[in-house]
Amino acid sequence: MRHFTTVSGIQNYLREQKLNHNSIGLVPTMGALHEGHSSLVKASLSENDITVTSIFINPVQFDNVEDFKRYPQTLESDLIELQKLGNTVVFIPSQQEMYPEKTILRLEFGSLQQEMEGKFREGHFNGVGIVVGKLFNIIKPDKAYFGQKDLQQYAVINQLVKDFSFDVKLRCMPILREDDGLAFSSRNQRLDAKGRTEAIILYKSLELAKDLIVEKVSIEEIIVKVQNLFGQSTVDLEYFEIVDPVSLMPIQSYNTQTNIALCIAGRVGKIRLIDNMIISK
Ligand code: AMP
Repeated sequence: MRHFTTVSGIQNYLREQKLNHNSIGLVPTMGALHEGHSSLVKASLSENDITVTSIFINPVQFDNVEDFKRYPQTLESDLIELQKLGNTVVFIPSQQEMYPEKTILRLEFGSLQQEMEGKFREGHFNGVGIVVGKLFNIIKPDKAYFGQKDLQQYAVINQLVKDFSFDVKLRCMPILREDDGLAFSSRNQRLDAKGRTEAIILYKSLELAKDLIVEKVSIEEIIVKVQNLFGQSTVDLEYFEIVDPVSLMPIQSYNTQTNIALCIAGRVGKIRLIDNMIISK
């Protein structure tokens, strides 16, 4: 396993790989790797000659300083995990390396950032767009791997690729879950035993909503039923939205021809978790 901490170092290495016609897959992460991340790395390893996993906690996408400071950092075990997965290249830049100067450019994703995460995390998608744009320019990957777990982030990055004509193919990979259904997340590490038990309500809500959709219950009623479920829990519901999976705009009604995305965010104490489920027609 090779690892690079500088932009020039990884660029020199990848330039040579490109000359040898090796394809490059990129898996951007913020570290604290779990099985969800591993699934992206495995997908990239199987579809590309070279897989670059970046580990960078991007300060620009955090609206909350405390959340940034407390974001789990487990570099040593991350490297062991990556080593187990196969022959990967790891890019671990410092903040200074990624942001030698303060960024002036601001990205705005219109209706894609209007709802859900965009409403609750001021400036988040600007930060995501800036760092992913930088990574695309530094690594110049043929394919880049993201998780459906961050559905709105995927939509935003898809738009970024279109609007800036990045020459990269995006892959959106399924959500990996723990045995009881909780989606793997780096933030799960911060949950205490009680919080970990309570956190399952996010997945339970998605399952409940899915069952109600099968029963053709109205959107309004489904939202009330999910809100009621949270009424009995210590987890604070931040949002539960039923949206079009492409436009991410809330839908008022549905039929058997409609694809639906159920999106949820909640706070277990100070720890914010998100999840979603797509119901295809
Ligand atoms: P993060 O390190 O949280 O920025 O996540 C890096 C990538 O892993 C993002 O594209 C996420 O959507 C993806 N990811 C996070 N959790 C999961 C999961 N449970 N299953 C699959 N992919 C995930």
